[in-house]
Amino acid sequence: MRTGISVEEALELVLAEAKGELPVEEVPLKEAFGRVLAEDLVSLVNHPDQDDTAVDGYACRQEDTLGASRENPVRLRVIGESPAGRPFAGKVGKGEAVAVYTGAPIPEGADAVIQVEDTQREGDYVLLLAPASPKDIRPRGDDLKRGEVYLRRGDLLTPGRLGLAAAMGYARLKVFRRPRVGILSTGDEVVEPGEPLPFGGVYNSNAYSLLGLVEEAGGEAVLLGKVEDQPEKVLETLEAAGHLDLLLTSGGVSMGDYDVVRKVLEESGEVVFWRVRQQPGKPLLLARLRGVPVLGLPGNPVSSMVSFFLYGRPFLFRLQRRTDPPYRSLTAKALTPFKGARDRKAFRRGVLTFEGELLVRTTGNQSSGVLRSMALGNALVVLPPGRDVGEGEMVEVIPLTFVL
Ligand code: AMP
Ligand code: MG
Repeated sequence: MRTGISVEEALELVLAEAKGELPVEEVPLKEAFGRVLAEDLVSLVNHPDQDDTAVDGYACRQEDTLGASRENPVRLRVIGESPAGRPFAGKVGKGEAVAVYTGAPIPEGADAVIQVEDTQREGDYVLLLAPASPKDIRPRGDDLKRGEVYLRRGDLLTPGRLGLAAAMGYARLKVFRRPRVGILSTGDEVVEPGEPLPFGGVYNSNAYSLLGLVEEAGGEAVLLGKVEDQPEKVLETLEAAGHLDLLLTSGGVSMGDYDVVRKVLEESGEVVFWRVRQQPGKPLLLARLRGVPVLGLPGNPVSSMVSFFLYGRPFLFRLQRRTDPPYRSLTAKALTPFKGARDRKAFRRGVLTFEGELLVRTTGNQSSGVLRSMALGNALVVLPPGRDVGEGEMVEVIPLTFVL
């Protein structure tokens, strides 16, 4: 077991556990939003599937219109029309035009389009006040070319990508099964919301903030409830959990006599590391139990959320083969001071705004028991060991992508 490791080492060890392949399932488009593609998608069509017009106007032969101007309009005979989806069957000859509407195919014989704003209709004729040009013709395959790959395995299906998959001709998509993530809360003092709170009790908030984090990262949260600080009960619940891709526990991993999660995992599983040089979340633990990776999160609400964001989320991204990074760093100007930790990397909670430049201010009380900071904040402020930041200084921030 390793201990006292850096944030970077911890992340590497966590990611190394994301070895498994998630099964693939096929879903209709309307259920695919927010899922992760498990196959590369080749376009089944050209879009547009033939040269079409990007404007409402008239299709004609460019050479007939070269000298056209307001002073000297060119007069063409309108021989028909072509609304979108209803191509004009005939051919455009010398001195002729066809009325076309955005998305309509360019009729045979025409090689230019003029927008309706530059014309005047006179019965069966149209006056062109400017030359027609090919620039408003969208060539076949301008947007999508049949046979080309536009979406890849590991791409998150965002609204734009879902639309693109439909445009490419797909009705159903192969996606990875959501990773199943068990969430177990421990602690004699922890009480389920809705029950009366005894003296010294605390409501189980971790289960629900972790549920949100897991689902936001594409996982399916499996709530395993809460157990007392008794090793047999912890083990029993973990072993009865059914198939999981990741197990999260909260509480019971620090130095106290009642920190049973650590003991159970030491005795019945394999602990990979315990304790990371970070604040909050120093007691973080990584283990395996019956082949399932276990992130032993500290019980403090901020510690468990920050630790999941820094390690659990990247783990789930890796498992889903996601092509987008789990988080990104930006640089912002501090509007308030931020205090670092002497020998650990510190992650403070901030409110990130943009007013001509990125600005970040503290959410207030930075204690790891103050969950309000995670509800108010939309970014982590990253401070290397021993570094404080004063007002006006530049500082690294990691947007909490699920709120930005
Ligand atoms: P522990 O890591 O077990 O020592 O717990 C650290 C702190 O987090 C204690 O104040 C606990 O009461 C609190 N805590 C532990 N589990 C939870 C939970 N599920 N929800 C909210 N607070 C918790
Ligand atoms: Mg505890």
